[in-house]
Amino acid sequence: MNHPAPTRTPVLRLTGVTLHLGRDQQQVTALDEVDLAVAPGEFVAVTGPSGSGKSSLLAVGGGLQSPTAGTVHVAGVDLTTLREHQRTAHRRRHIGYVFQQANLFTSLTAREQLLLTAHVAGRLDATIRRRADDLLEAVGMTARAGHRPDRLSGGERQRVGIARALVLAPEVLLVDEPTSALDRARARDIVDLLAEQTRRHRTATVMVTHDHEILDAADRVLTLRDGRLS
Ligand code: ADP
Ligand code: MG
Repeated sequence: MNHPAPTRTPVLRLTGVTLHLGRDQQQVTALDEVDLAVAPGEFVAVTGPSGSGKSSLLAVGGGLQSPTAGTVHVAGVDLTTLREHQRTAHRRRHIGYVFQQANLFTSLTAREQLLLTAHVAGRLDATIRRRADDLLEAVGMTARAGHRPDRLSGGERQRVGIARALVLAPEVLLVDEPTSALDRARARDIVDLLAEQTRRHRTATVMVTHDHEILDAADRVLTLRDGRLS
């Protein structure tokens, strides 16, 4: 079958996910029996205090960190059964990730950050170049598209990181504290962009944040406390 079925089958599904970090006396239960299913086109916000496991949830959901227990299905494949290189390939193909600290390449301009992502995926063409420019405009970075990260502010780097995660219109989008370095007006623009892209491309989006002013953009708001999701 070549066409995706018109269903609301979750494209991201965490089942019974527990994550222990550290060892022995210092061991922390970052995630405790977490179940989460996100369908295409759904925008889920996860809130919770600092240290409640928000970044851990995304790291496990994005296959950057293996859970101690449980399964993580992305686009029908359980990441926990894959080898490292298979997991990396699957992640590149299906997941867009926005890190809390933008994690940009120091030697590349803002625009090149987006183009490299497309190039690595073998998808750099005229359409993607246009989309990259549209996204840079949507995050207000057109005038600075030729700047390297050391010539950008924290908020500008964060906005480039968001545009980069969106450039391939991934099926699953995981976003860590996207507005932490932004002023109110810019935060609103960014979260509206995430909501709009989620709907337009039927992305399954999970945004973790402790910014309560942007939660209204989400379809569903969940809370993490001591690694437990409710
Ligand atoms: P949040 O993003 O909500 O602030 P995190 O997911 O970063 O929370 O962290 C969850 C818990 O795991 C916290 O108690 C944190 O101190 C702990 N933690 C995070 N990373 C590590 C690590 N590498 N080793 C040990 N504990 C960690
Ligand atoms: Mg965090």
